[in-house]
Amino acid sequence: MISIHVALVGAAPSTRPIVILQEGLRREIAVVVQDGVERVDLQTALQGYAVAIVSDAARSSVTFALQGREIMLYHRKNLASVQGDLRLLSGTVLFEGGQWLVPVESLPRLLGPLLGLATSWRADTRVLLMGDVRIPRATAKIFASADVVRVVIEASEKVPFQVSQAPDRLAVAIPRDAIDVGFTQERLTGGIVEEVGFEGGKDNVFYVKLGPRFENLRAYELDGPPRLVLELQAPPIELRPAPPAPSPRRSETMDGKDGGTAEVRVVVIDPGHGGDEVGALGPNGTFEKDVTLSLARKLRAALTNRLGIQAFLTRDRDEYVALDTRAGIANNYKADLFISLHANASRSHGARGSEVYFLSYQATDDESRRVALLEGGFEMPERAPDGSDLALVLWDMAQAAHLEESSNLASCLLDELSEMTGDAGRGVKQAPFRVLVGAAMPAALVEVAFISNPEEEQLLVSEEHQNKIATALTRGIARYARERLKRMGYASSGALSKR
Ligand SMILES: [Zn+2]
Repeated sequence: MISIHVALVGAAPSTRPIVILQEGLRREIAVVVQDGVERVDLQTALQGYAVAIVSDAARSSVTFALQGREIMLYHRKNLASVQGDLRLLSGTVLFEGGQWLVPVESLPRLLGPLLGLATSWRADTRVLLMGDVRIPRATAKIFASADVVRVVIEASEKVPFQVSQAPDRLAVAIPRDAIDVGFTQERLTGGIVEEVGFEGGKDNVFYVKLGPRFENLRAYELDGPPRLVLELQAPPIELRPAPPAPSPRRSETMDGKDGGTAEVRVVVIDPGHGGDEVGALGPNGTFEKDVTLSLARKLRAALTNRLGIQAFLTRDRDEYVALDTRAGIANNYKADLFISLHANASRSHGARGSEVYFLSYQATDDESRRVALLEGGFEMPERAPDGSDLALVLWDMAQAAHLEESSNLASCLLDELSEMTGDAGRGVKQAPFRVLVGAAMPAALVEVAFISNPEEEQLLVSEEHQNKIATALTRGIARYARERLKRMGYASSGALSKR
């Protein structure tokens, strides 16, 4: 006789008792493992039912009967007769020590017809449900805003919630024999929570995969319906992720005095130059246009990943874009900030350090005027074409309404760049940069370093240093956003810093 073992894919056999739930009763019954099959004594499983058990003289078969229904089992056979029909079982039946041991997985197939009850086996929690058993239902609901994600695990009746936290994960166990869960998995963007899911197991575990912006957890329970609330908070940056697509979203209440929103959600980054217009040239042949594009991409990634800010580039390849168009792109995106990136050049090879500019009609000094001209600035005529006062012409520029905030932005950017390089930087300056004129939001032009200085040129082409610059600018934007909220009187709002 050849015996064929069918290897079932799944958990290794366990001797852990199974749980039988039936109309308010809970019983644990012992499991015997033999030849890799988990079995239980059928008579024990049927405790409480007036089942008639009749075995043949040789103990090679047995009949279990109840109210005219019957099943017949055979020693060492993986077949059973259920109400006269032959049924294949998941393993062989054994008669040992006076017990009829039947494969656990086949219990529903045998008990259901015998008892006339709906019967089901839940392998993950090792629970056999017999008849109409009330099982709590649980589900997860997710509410995400900019700096907090709320995961609410709601149950149909009072159940224990056990929360445990690992560095990158939260687990919520509901240690009940059986629950029904109407939730599988949901992925989130925004960096606080990456995924919420139900993984089940013995303790019915919901999990929350934490993202890089997660900082702390507040968990509490509420009633009506019973639920656990997990509040996962981002660090107190006071920034909100942008809406999925650029759209008009300036609200009355959040309008700052310069007409912009208090929060920074969208930033447009302008990689200076491009195409035939290569910008400044380093002594070792580095083009400014390549450095600015590479930097802009890194800054975009840093803003998105670390601050949840939506960031766009005025160009994402090596192409010429007119100066006025660049500000126009920022206006189209309804950007909250516009930052034009450049690398400086000087006839003096020793010139070094960062400079940050915001727009003015007159340059701070001759050097600033020279830089502005180099970057495609424009010379203001002494008088406007129609002979009117130039101050009025300046007032017509889109940027004019934002000069104060632009000055604040420039300071924050320079402070962080100086912090990163360890030198004081060359200061915040003003000059008539054409690229800034049409920007209808706070705007600054950053000369990150001197590409004309061989040492700084070396740094400007290094990935590592570019990342440092992107980080410094990201910190500068975060700092600016923080200070702007305070200036606009939102420092005490609930959405802000907890510290
Ligand atoms: Zn430039």
